[in-house]
Amino acid sequence: MLILYFLLSLLGLVVGSFLTMLSYRLPRGLSILGRSVCPLCHKQISWYQNIPVFYFILSGGKCGFCKEAISLRYPLVEIITALFFLISAYLWGLSGSNLVVVWNALLGNMSLPFFFLLTIFFLLLTIIDFEFQILPDKILFLLMLLTTLVLLLSPSPTVLFNLFVGFSVFIFFLAIYLLTQKRGMGFGDVKMSFILSSLLGFPNILIWLFLSFLSGAVVGLFLIAIKKASFGKSIPFGPFLLISAWITFFFGDMILGWYLVYN
Ligand SMILES: [Zn+2]
Repeated sequence: MLILYFLLSLLGLVVGSFLTMLSYRLPRGLSILGRSVCPLCHKQISWYQNIPVFYFILSGGKCGFCKEAISLRYPLVEIITALFFLISAYLWGLSGSNLVVVWNALLGNMSLPFFFLLTIFFLLLTIIDFEFQILPDKILFLLMLLTTLVLLLSPSPTVLFNLFVGFSVFIFFLAIYLLTQKRGMGFGDVKMSFILSSLLGFPNILIWLFLSFLSGAVVGLFLIAIKKASFGKSIPFGPFLLISAWITFFFGDMILGWYLVYN
């Protein structure tokens, strides 16, 4: 079991290294093929310099050629991805949430690998939205394909109901988007709301919406309080939507249960 978690964290680091590359190149319109170069001296990076985290530590966080500091985002994204993989695997075995149960029934042995894939897309979108305030259509499209696959495997009443849920949430987000004159959220968030809510279904979307708006408001007010942000100047909403969806996957039932007990 321990060896499995060890291999999983290595896989997480490698995937995280790939995510730093994708999240750097995709929003800048660069090709995702070809070798990485140092963003400062533009020298090509050797294979061993791509080894996640370890090279960063060995080199003291400096480029091997120009000795300029390598951005902390590289090891940070790698470690965060590995952590998400480990926590996903741990919670998957532990959580009896309806989404985990349904996915196990639909996807069998492939349910956890499929959830890793979903987590990868969530992380990629979170990083890009955090840095660039955009949710690229290409990645949203791939996320939609994953969602479609889950829906295709589901019984048809569930599919219709989830699509209805997705459409309702989409209209709700579109209304906020128009009423706040595009300052509350971007159109990428509106599009993504359809995908995430048709994936989560009802009643999970209630918990997801609650967590998204609550965490967005708390962090937004905190940033204003420490003067890192101001009213009107937007912080991206995508990361809140994505991380809340991820949490809802495992804890949606539990949070809804608490709510029903205490009300
Ligand atoms: Zn360099």
